[in-house]
Amino acid sequence: MVYDVIIIGGGPAGLSAGIYAKRAMMNALLIEKVGLGGQITKTHMLENYPGFPEVSGMELMEKMEEHAKKFDLEIKFADVRQIKDGGDVKTVVTSDGEFETRSVIVATGTRPKKLGVPGEDEFTGRGVSTCATCDGFFFTGKDVALVGGGDSAIVEAIFLTKMVNKVYVIHRRDELRAEKINQERAFKNPKIEFVWNSNLQSIEGTNTVEKVIVKNKLTDEITEIQVGGVFMYVGVEPGTDFVEADKDGNGFLITGPDLSTSVPGIFAAGDCRTTLLRQVATAVADGALAAVSAERYLAGIE
Ligand code: NAP
Repeated sequence: MVYDVIIIGGGPAGLSAGIYAKRAMMNALLIEKVGLGGQITKTHMLENYPGFPEVSGMELMEKMEEHAKKFDLEIKFADVRQIKDGGDVKTVVTSDGEFETRSVIVATGTRPKKLGVPGEDEFTGRGVSTCATCDGFFFTGKDVALVGGGDSAIVEAIFLTKMVNKVYVIHRRDELRAEKINQERAFKNPKIEFVWNSNLQSIEGTNTVEKVIVKNKLTDEITEIQVGGVFMYVGVEPGTDFVEADKDGNGFLITGPDLSTSVPGIFAAGDCRTTLLRQVATAVADGALAAVSAERYLAGIE
């Protein structure tokens, strides 16, 4: 059996592609590695997905999953290792078998980047986290550090103030790149203290995190901050290692206006491609466009 399209990734872009593919009567399979929903399920509250003024990432993705299942989207859980490009028919090689398809939509999103400082790996799960929504509760009443100045960092720093005593936001510049509305909220929040122009040097402790060592880039001054936990939000990297198509310097797939990659029949949607904006709204739009483009591609090769 040869699928019309295999969608790799079950976040907003993948589920949206699935809904559009099924409504176009395509024989579609979605393959997801861990669980449906993607990175956005780690976000406690979204305020910029139209139609949902306030919704948790988990709740929104449960609705998208339900929506895709309503159209009988076939879903399989496996780790995709390779796409063998046999021209009109491609083979998706997974941890649980090989599947043939005439087109592929890569919607694998991103994963959190590591900073690579001493203590980061050692204390992961013992005070170091990349998910405030999942782990914030464990730090109730404590002081924590958070590294980064992007949207994820600032949204999650604000969230953490609901339970922790204080959040030290350690940022390498003196300006944030997060949305202005969240910057304002963070600046007004008495529980957030910014540590500007500073790099995290190491995370230290015995069994769990006890302190972070920070270096000011302008003065070279080294400071110790006593914290019970560290949240890392230093950006993301795409899950595109297994895709042999043109990528930018950071591994994001380069796409044309129809979301085609450099390999005919392979499309990319959502955060895993080179794009100016990575939001749930843009990911679902990508999923729709990629499915329609795959449908047109199939019509062309028939
Ligand atoms: P991001 O926007 O790439 O921000 C990463 C942050 O980490 C930046 O402040 C960056 O500093 C800092 N950083 C990177 N490498 C570093 C290093 N080696 N040492 C110290 N700091 C470092 O990543 P993100 O916040 O995870 O967001 C990813 C994407 O999702 C973005 O497109 C974002 O807009 C989107 N997103 C949107 C929302 C929302 O709309 N509310 C929420 C979450 C995420 P510099 O600023 O100096 O580069």
